[in-house]
Amino acid sequence: MNILQIIEKKQRSLELSKEEIDFFINNYTNGNIPDYQAAALIMAIYINGMNMNETTNLTISMANSGEVLNLERLGCVVDKHSTGGVGDKVSIILLPIIASLGIPVAKMSGRGLGFTGGTIDKLESIPGYKTSMEINSFIQNVEKMGISIIGQTLNLAPADKKIYSLRNAISCIDNKPLIASSIMSKKIAAGASKIVLDVTCGNGAFMKNENDAIELSKIMQEIGRLANKETVCIITNMDEPLGYSVGNILEVKEAVQFLKGNMEENEKNVILEIGAYIIKLAGKGDDIQLNKEKILDNIYSGKAYDKFVELVRMQNGDISYIENLDKFPKAKYEQEITSEDGYIQSINAEEIGLASVALGAGRIKKDDNIDNTVGIVFHKKVGDKVSSKEVIAKVFANDEIELKRQTQRIKNAIKVVDYEVPKLNSIIKIMC
Ligand code: URA
Repeated sequence: MNILQIIEKKQRSLELSKEEIDFFINNYTNGNIPDYQAAALIMAIYINGMNMNETTNLTISMANSGEVLNLERLGCVVDKHSTGGVGDKVSIILLPIIASLGIPVAKMSGRGLGFTGGTIDKLESIPGYKTSMEINSFIQNVEKMGISIIGQTLNLAPADKKIYSLRNAISCIDNKPLIASSIMSKKIAAGASKIVLDVTCGNGAFMKNENDAIELSKIMQEIGRLANKETVCIITNMDEPLGYSVGNILEVKEAVQFLKGNMEENEKNVILEIGAYIIKLAGKGDDIQLNKEKILDNIYSGKAYDKFVELVRMQNGDISYIENLDKFPKAKYEQEITSEDGYIQSINAEEIGLASVALGAGRIKKDDNIDNTVGIVFHKKVGDKVSSKEVIAKVFANDEIELKRQTQRIKNAIKVVDYEVPKLNSIIKIMC
């Protein structure tokens, strides 16, 4: 068997065997297969697809490419993952809330992918925050303070780490088998016993419509079933950016504000729904409404914010930035976008994500540096009434030419109409 035969098979749309998938994953992980051959195979998978058998084998092979943790000694650990979105800071907000309720959180997050942001890039914008650590320290942190959020720098699903950044660099992202195997391999390797997935749906997500989101959810639930991990999928609306801000530091600031009780409505609905199901799966309450109240109680009492500060401190982050958000560095240029009279009909989240990447918040090439200060802050959301000259959004940039270019793009992505528009429905479907 060799990699050229495997690539050729997938080019001809044939089913890959378990042995062929294992051969590719083992040899790509240990460096025997170069990026260009892996890129050719990933592109063939992207174009010709994979059936359920292949997707499951790919997931298991990726999960077994490194260590597979067993977290049983921590009790019932529920993991959470998102299929990606624009302004998606749910993990940064929700996981400290969950930990503050006494439910252990051991979370391995990812970096930005395509036009979507990544939790790890966001957390790393806090000076000092360490996203890489030894497995023992990771588990010790969870034991000591109930939470740890790290990047994929441990020996957990290393195949996904390589394939994830390769997919980003060759534009092979929005593909169900590749997304499902990427997410579920990490979840299996990270050792949680139950999983809640935020399957985003809309123009700012990889699944553009409800049918695709349902199909992806079913694939991930089936993998969860085979791996003996109960998996709940919550399909959430990503037809506008989530919350108010897009961009690494800007999103961390919003997350802190949220934990202090300043909550944007759609973001709040998403956090409450996903959080309520995490609490349920952890065996800490079957009543979803009551679970939502527990979350709100811990926000209003300050316990959730305190847990976030503890997390940042424990992972070496400088908490003085969290205590004084003005301390974060700022972009050099700022441009307001103002409105005409009317109602916000739509904010194209994919365009906003692409603008944010172009401003420097995301990567075009695998090893690109990112600019944590740039991004967009919205002052209005879909359904809001706006009056002439009112500020709808502010763009933050360090490059004058990009500032002009992306401000125009963002303006074009916001539609204002002269009739009333309903707010977006945050939760589309819950699949238990
Ligand atoms: N999140 C992941 O971890 N992988 C994907 O492919 C998409 C979102």
